[in-house]
Amino acid sequence: MSFNQEFSDSDYSFEPSVAAGIRASLADWFLLMGRELPWREKPSPYAVLVSEFMLQQTQVATVIPYFLRWMEKFPTLADLATAPESTVLHLWQGLGYYSRARNLHKAAQAVMGHFSGLIPSDPALLKTLPGVGAYSAGAIASFAFDRAEAAVDANIARVLSRLANFQMPVDTPNGARQIWRLAVALLPSGGGRLHTSALMELGALVCVAKNPRCLECPIQRDCAAVEPEQLPRKGPRRATIKLNESAAWMVRGSEVLLEQQQGRRAGGLWKLPPLNEAGEGPVLFETVYPFTHHKVTLRIFEAPVPEVLGENQRWFTQGVVLAEAALPAAHRRALQVLLKSGNPALS
Ligand code: SF4
Repeated sequence: MSFNQEFSDSDYSFEPSVAAGIRASLADWFLLMGRELPWREKPSPYAVLVSEFMLQQTQVATVIPYFLRWMEKFPTLADLATAPESTVLHLWQGLGYYSRARNLHKAAQAVMGHFSGLIPSDPALLKTLPGVGAYSAGAIASFAFDRAEAAVDANIARVLSRLANFQMPVDTPNGARQIWRLAVALLPSGGGRLHTSALMELGALVCVAKNPRCLECPIQRDCAAVEPEQLPRKGPRRATIKLNESAAWMVRGSEVLLEQQQGRRAGGLWKLPPLNEAGEGPVLFETVYPFTHHKVTLRIFEAPVPEVLGENQRWFTQGVVLAEAALPAAHRRALQVLLKSGNPALS
């Protein structure tokens, strides 16, 4: 038996000789099969920091063009730290979860202010930066500084669950703690960059969620999974809640009215002004978008121009609004469609 397994609170772990074999096979495989990614070519601490923020909840293929644009606009940490928040949010448009952009901006400012512009290598210090949790701290320490630190994201949790035939839900505090221990048990004494990259890449390319490619897997010999597709186990899902959002299409000549959002989650972004109730008259535009465990239906209605603008409202020229304003994806789509459609309100 390769593993010390008990389907209870007991620790799962790898025997040291098995762990060494897994590490060696993973490293050999990664050196042959690992993808070339822009942040892997020159893994400067700043490039790694940016890529890790972008990759949270977003796929590699989506991130690559954003990463390249970002590094062109903000080639150094100091460039990012001193940029206006509106420019940062604008460049992030389309990646979603804008709190990541705001936290990345604040993290750059914190590094300039508290660490003399040098991103720390110690995960404990990394975790003091806004938006950097246990996973990101371990990943940045591994990728940027080659430290042997554990980092468990969804890909790595899946690989470890299957390797150890781990039967506890990984999204419970105890399950997550046990998976983290497995990650630590598998760590090499040095060379964290290669090890963590290989583990993550295996999860992305071979040990995928559906139809894992076990026959091509470099560590199949040491894998204890009996029904890999059933792993990792998860707790019950939160039910999806349907929500309605109504917003106003208000135009004045060639201008359109937007309202800037406040608060932690969406602060700084511009939207079509919200309506408390569904407007009267026809729906000009409708779309459905997901938001955490919600499914939101956004409907846009024509509305009369207000006599006095709200505190956070501003007129934008329709020809430049898409270039000037950072907008959530659904509102950007609405504007694109309505500006193009030659809506009667605009004529
Ligand atoms: S053998 Fe299959 S289940 Fe096990 S680690 Fe490899 S791909 Fe995943």
